[in-house]
Amino acid sequence: MKIVIIGAGPAGRFAAMYAAENGNDVTLIENKHIGGKCLNQACMVVCALSDVSKHIRDAENFDELGILDCKPKVNYEKITGLIKDTQKKIHKIITKETVNTGVEFIHGTASVNADEKVVIVNEDDEYPYDKLLICTGSSPKIPNIPGAEKALTYKDTLKIKEVPEKLVIIGGGSTAAEYAGIFSSMGSQVDILCRSQFLKVLNDSKSEEYIVSKLLKNTMVHENVEIKEITDTSVITNYGEIEGTVLLATGVKANSDIVKDIVERDEKGNIIVDEYMQTSNEDIYAAGDVIGGILSTPVSRMEGMAAIKNIMGKKIKPDYSLIPMTITLPYDVSYLLGTDVSDNGKEIVLPGAAGPSTFWFTLEGNTGFTKENINLDSNEINNIIAISPSSNIALPYMIKAIKDGKKADQFDNFLEIHPSTDGISKLTEYYKRYLD
Ligand SMILES: Cc1cc2nc3c(=O)[nH]c(=O)nc-3n(C[C@H](O)[C@H](O)[C@H](O)COP(=O)(O)OP(=O)(O)OC[C@H]3O[C@@H](n4cnc5c(N)ncnc54)[C@H](O)[C@@H]3O)c2cc1C
Repeated sequence: MKIVIIGAGPAGRFAAMYAAENGNDVTLIENKHIGGKCLNQACMVVCALSDVSKHIRDAENFDELGILDCKPKVNYEKITGLIKDTQKKIHKIITKETVNTGVEFIHGTASVNADEKVVIVNEDDEYPYDKLLICTGSSPKIPNIPGAEKALTYKDTLKIKEVPEKLVIIGGGSTAAEYAGIFSSMGSQVDILCRSQFLKVLNDSKSEEYIVSKLLKNTMVHENVEIKEITDTSVITNYGEIEGTVLLATGVKANSDIVKDIVERDEKGNIIVDEYMQTSNEDIYAAGDVIGGILSTPVSRMEGMAAIKNIMGKKIKPDYSLIPMTITLPYDVSYLLGTDVSDNGKEIVLPGAAGPSTFWFTLEGNTGFTKENINLDSNEINNIIAISPSSNIALPYMIKAIKDGKKADQFDNFLEIHPSTDGISKLTEYYKRYLD
């Protein structure tokens, strides 16, 4: 079968490799860089900058404790230069991985002629298809505020030359928190302006309080703010003017215009798909950020894989229950989407343990915590939030165990590695101790 895939981000690239490995004739088209937003602008950039900020925090702590004589000084231009070098190296590795499966990888901007069933690249070259998969991802959403086009977005974080003295972040979600963590540790005074509540996604005031008081330094969070205007050097709000370099963390919008007259889209521009990732045109499927919903790399990959398997005649529905997510801060803040806590559960909390990356913060009482919601009748685990250095590793394995039917009382023979900061397994194993 001739399959054309547009967009070589997490959704498109994994789908392309799977289809080629299974004997299809696959063309993958990308107009910027292989790896999509994840490698080039988002996840990997946040990861690289967060690694630096965690080292700064450790170094400052060691200096304060008098253990090491070190006051870190940031060379931001050097950091961004090395991130770009690393991205180039990864481009080479994953391009090789992709073409080695038999995928034809084309660089150019794609448009679609659905009547002829052909994709046109750079207005010139034609690639006919039996089935087309759209994985064109998303771009920063610019809010309808006067002057918003002057502000930076996540796409600009590798372009700025130095750490801003003052940074005003507009938005109250994970991205706002992550950039506040990064730039405040590098020396910026940060203001976060939220239209409603900060980190509403966690649905947990204890976690929000912990993040603001213990994990974000030099950061003021302003909630229920109405923004009137963005200038070159400030944001004008209903509470007055706040000065600083302005960074938008106001979400993303789907890159779906290439099929705007071809498939149905919702009012936000997300491509509408059925549960098998098929659009309103039976030969066109879509996956990843371009369909909206949960915007993460593993979810985009899962959707891409489901779409390609359905194109190949299987009947696969992506499983959106219990999706593990992390906000990358000095300690990772890991939580679940798709949970049901209406189930008469009991909330149990365990303070974080002293261990790798927390030991030297134990004296100041900053070791994070784990919180679970367990149904004491059925022993089912309804929800987990964990703030610890190991939470982003422990949580997905816990979810696998829960999905495979494991209940809270089936962890009594769990053998951990010691020392570790994994409160999730510990709390599950000993939860009866922590009941009131
Ligand atoms: C700041 C930020 C941080 C994030 N951090 C994380 C994280 O830590 N973990 C996580 O799981 N998720 C994270 N995400 C989300 C994650 O980046 C996305 O969910 C994921 O990249 C979506 O993958 P995708 O393949 O659907 O689209 P994308 O990664 O957006 O890739 C789409 C590709 O299609 C290309 N394209 C678009 N139009 C065309 C065209 N006409 N022709 C050819 N090519 C085209 C684009 O250039 C792009 O390369 C983050 C997002 C942001 C904004």
